[in-house]
Amino acid sequence: MNVPFAFIATAGALGWVWPTWMIRHQHRIDPRLAMAAWPAAQVLFALVSVGAAVTLLVPGHATTFVSSLVGRCLNSLAHTTPAAGENVAGAAGSVALLVVFSCVFVRILRRRNAQRDRREQLSDTIFLTGFQLPGFPDVWWLDDDRPVAFCLAGPRTRIGASTGLFGFLNDNELDAVLSHERAHARMRHHTTIVWAEACGRTLSAIPLFRYGAQSVRGLSEQAADAAAASAHGPMTVASALIKLASAPRQATPPRGSLAAAQGNLGFRLNTLTRQGQRSHLSASLHIAAITTACVLAPAATVTMVLATLTCS
Ligand SMILES: [Zn+2]
Repeated sequence: MNVPFAFIATAGALGWVWPTWMIRHQHRIDPRLAMAAWPAAQVLFALVSVGAAVTLLVPGHATTFVSSLVGRCLNSLAHTTPAAGENVAGAAGSVALLVVFSCVFVRILRRRNAQRDRREQLSDTIFLTGFQLPGFPDVWWLDDDRPVAFCLAGPRTRIGASTGLFGFLNDNELDAVLSHERAHARMRHHTTIVWAEACGRTLSAIPLFRYGAQSVRGLSEQAADAAAASAHGPMTVASALIKLASAPRQATPPRGSLAAAQGNLGFRLNTLTRQGQRSHLSASLHIAAITTACVLAPAATVTMVLATLTCS
């Protein structure tokens, strides 16, 4: 076993094993953390892939890096395959990674541009036809008796809502729905979805990216529900969602926006019920575990690459 092999094995576990485990267990985790875990795992996958390519390009290192405990550990992972073979594999891996990163970058750029054009058109329409009401400084209201609330992407995120909400929801439920939309804006869900979908299209052969694109969109609704439930209570949010879903006439939210009534309603209601039952200790343990993993795993990857490059 050597350092590049350790990186490749980690990438394999992250890319093919972790998604299956995560999909099976993410309903037990706070959706805000689960949503953060997918892009964090994807970034880590990219880091260890780069780590594998870089360490393959510098064979022979890490064999004498024995000046510290880390060095002694790394020494046991020293390269054992012929240097020329590792160089070729490292060069091929580097080119492949460069191509993949370029494709992802171009896709993200295209989707962000399309999102920006759509947002500007919609914002113009909302400014022309919408109006503001006292007590809701960040919401543009549309005169329509069909209940709908949505959040448009962008640096200055716009929240739109129809006056039909007043006829369907009580004051607490209305505040919960608007909190849901503000959570989309605050947590930059549009940006995370663009990232996940661009990566998912480019790397659809890898489960981490294929399932990530599907999971992140669904989790964004659950995460916004969880944020609204923290302020207004899970039952208030659940009641608002049921009323919106049972409205006799439904309005279609603007394309590209995130709306309060999107996603699998049954799944969202189950998540809200679990949020009401989840203890503070359990939530704190989840936060501690995922935060630790998000900090330690990239730090360990960078440390191993640097140690391999700087040893003599
Ligand atoms: Zn939503």
